[in-house]
Amino acid sequence: MADLTPSFSQPHPAKGESALVRAVLGPAGAVRQGVKRLLWMLPAYAFAMTLMVCGVVFQRVQVWQAWALAGYVLCGLSGFYAVLRTGLVAHHPEPTLAFPQVLFSLTTVCLSYAMIESSRGLALEWMCLILVFDMRRLTGRQAQLATFGGLGLLVTMLLFTWRLNPPAADLNAALVTIATVGLTMPTLLIVTKVGRRLHQRRLDQRAAMATAFEQFNALSIRDGLTQLFNRRHMMSLLEDEVRRQQRSRRAFCVAILDIDFFKRVNDQHGHAVGDAVLHDFATLARGTFSGSDAVARWGGEEFLVLMSEADQGQALEMLERLRQAVRQHDWTVHGPGLAVTFSAGVREHTTDDTLAQSLEHADAALYKAKAQGRDRTIASTTAAAVLSGQAT
Ligand code: GH3
Ligand code: MG
Ligand code: MG
Repeated sequence: MADLTPSFSQPHPAKGESALVRAVLGPAGAVRQGVKRLLWMLPAYAFAMTLMVCGVVFQRVQVWQAWALAGYVLCGLSGFYAVLRTGLVAHHPEPTLAFPQVLFSLTTVCLSYAMIESSRGLALEWMCLILVFDMRRLTGRQAQLATFGGLGLLVTMLLFTWRLNPPAADLNAALVTIATVGLTMPTLLIVTKVGRRLHQRRLDQRAAMATAFEQFNALSIRDGLTQLFNRRHMMSLLEDEVRRQQRSRRAFCVAILDIDFFKRVNDQHGHAVGDAVLHDFATLARGTFSGSDAVARWGGEEFLVLMSEADQGQALEMLERLRQAVRQHDWTVHGPGLAVTFSAGVREHTTDDTLAQSLEHADAALYKAKAQGRDRTIASTTAAAVLSGQAT
C-alpha cells in the first residue's frame, strides 16, 4: 500500500544497534534502504487486514475471501523481503524496487475490489494514497504506467465482476467509482509532474548557485592578471603556516621578489608589454615553485613566495633556479631588446619572530639587494643583521 517512508539517507547502521535490528534490516546501503522501505509499508497493510478481519466478524467478508487476500499480501511481502534482504537487487539501478512494489499495491487494491463488494467504495482512496506516497519515487514513465495501469486494472475488474455476477453487481455505483478514479488519478499525475518539475528546478538552481559560489571563491583568492594568489589569500596562508610552525617547530621561508627597473619597461615598451612581463614572470615562478610552495602577487611588480618546507639554503637554491629561468626566457617577443631581472629578499621564519617581523626582514633584505646592484637575492639571517644593515 502507501509508502510512508520519510527518508533513507542514513549510510551506516546506527551505533549501538541490536543484532536483531541488524539481522532484520541487513547491511547498510542499498539493501537496508530497500528493506526499510518495505517495512514502512507494513502498517498500511496491517490496517487493511484489520479492516478485513472486522469485515469477516460482521459477515461482510467471507472467510475464504479474507484468506485469499491475506495469502496474496503475505506471499507478495515475503517475496519482496527475501529479494531485498538477500541483496539480489542491491546493484540494480532501482534497488528499493519502488515500481514493482507500487504495482503490487495496485493489484492488491484491484483484487480486493473484485472479491469484496464492501471494499469497492474504498478503492479510490487506496489508489490515490498509493500514488500520492509513491509517485515521487517513480520516474515520470513509471508514474504514468502506474496511474493508467491501475485504472485499466480497475475497469477490467469491474467488467469481470459484472460479467460473473450481473445481478449482484451495482453497475451504476461501480461506474461512478471508476469515473472518479479516472478523473482523480490523472489529475494527481499532473500535479505530481508539476511538483517534480518545480523540485528539479530548485535542485538545478541550487547546483548552479553552488557552482557560482565555488567559482567566486576561486576568483576571490587570485590576482586577475597573473592568476597567482592575491595578497589577502597569501596573508591567510602565511598565518596558517605560522600556526602550523608553532606546533611542528619546523622552519619555513618567505621571499619577496621585485622586478628590477620595471617602470622603465612600461615607459619604453608600453603598459601592455609591462602586463605581459608580469604574466610571464608569474608563469615562470609558478613553474619553479610547486607542491608545498605558494606564490602570490604581493602588489604591482612584487611577488611573495612562501616555501613551507624549505630552510634558508633550500630557499636560496630555489630562487637561483627562478633566476636562471628568468634569464633564459625570451623576453624580446614582447619588445625589442627587452630583458628582465629581479631582486629578492629571503627570511627564514622562526618562532622568535612574528609574521610581521619576518615580512619586514624579507623586505629589508630586498632593499639591500636593490642597493647592492639588483639581480640578486639577499638572505636576512637574523633580526640583528637586518636591523644593523648587515644582511648576508
Ligand atoms: P626597482 O628596480 O627599484 O624596483 O624599480 P622599478 O621601476 O621596478 O620600481 P618602481 O616602484 O619605480 O616602479 C614600479 C612600476 O610598476 C610602477 C607602476 O606603474 C608599475 N606597475 C605596477 N603595477 C602594474 C601593472 O599591473 N601593470 C603594469 N604594466 N605596470 C605596473
Ligand atoms: Mg616595487
Ligand atoms: Mg621593481
